[in-house]
Amino acid sequence: MNCRKCGDRGYLIEMGDETAVAKVCPCRSPCPKCADTGWWMELVDGRPISKPCDCRHLRRHVSRYNDTGIPARMHRCKLENFEDKGGTQGEVKAHLKLFRQAFRPGNRGFLLWGPPGTGKTHLACALLTYFTLERGYTARFQDFFHLLSDLKAAYALNRSEDAILGPLVDVDILVIDELGKGRATEWEISVLDQLVSRRYNAQKTILATTNFDVTDATPGPDTPIARLVDRVDSRIYSRLREMCDFHQVDGPDWRKRG
Ligand SMILES: [Zn+2]
Ligand SMILES: [Zn+2]
Repeated sequence: MNCRKCGDRGYLIEMGDETAVAKVCPCRSPCPKCADTGWWMELVDGRPISKPCDCRHLRRHVSRYNDTGIPARMHRCKLENFEDKGGTQGEVKAHLKLFRQAFRPGNRGFLLWGPPGTGKTHLACALLTYFTLERGYTARFQDFFHLLSDLKAAYALNRSEDAILGPLVDVDILVIDELGKGRATEWEISVLDQLVSRRYNAQKTILATTNFDVTDATPGPDTPIARLVDRVDSRIYSRLREMCDFHQVDGPDWRKRG
């Protein structure tokens, strides 16, 4: 390893004001191979031939990460530093490692469900970090609450809904965080329905997290958590079932508390 700052990855991730921000490491800026021209000369049979430099990928991947909108507090999240504290956490981590290896855009995604504080958002952000910076895919991290307020702001400015929803439909990978949160009004459900249906029709990957239950159990004294199906409408729920594998993430002491 030559660079201690970036571990020779070529990029660093910092906490921005609201979102995490990646930048090219000083060890690659200016690029030692092409001095940021994007081209370098190789001698082929004694003649110089100009070739595109790899640093173009690095810069593109960094800007894809910065378009993702990963929350600032999640800037260190990696699968490698996700701490298995018991429960199903180790199992889910191992599963996501395989998911990450085999992933191609359009693949079936996953939905992580379980109580707050079990690392669901960490895991989702870790995968987005890898997919943008290491693989160069396009992605968005979308908190459902924020989406609703962005839409309200767009209406107030007479801007079309599609200016907000379009990019969320187009990216290779969309994370919807805190699915089912909100007041579940008709309008909120219709926004979610549009988003999920449009990605479903375009065969695009959805990753999601939720604090709500996805088992068939009826809420009662034994299952205190409300069900996701009751929060998002059965049509959206069955689409999600088709598009995602559902994994429960819980901690070591969760069942005792229930
Ligand atoms: Zn470096
Ligand atoms: Zn270069």
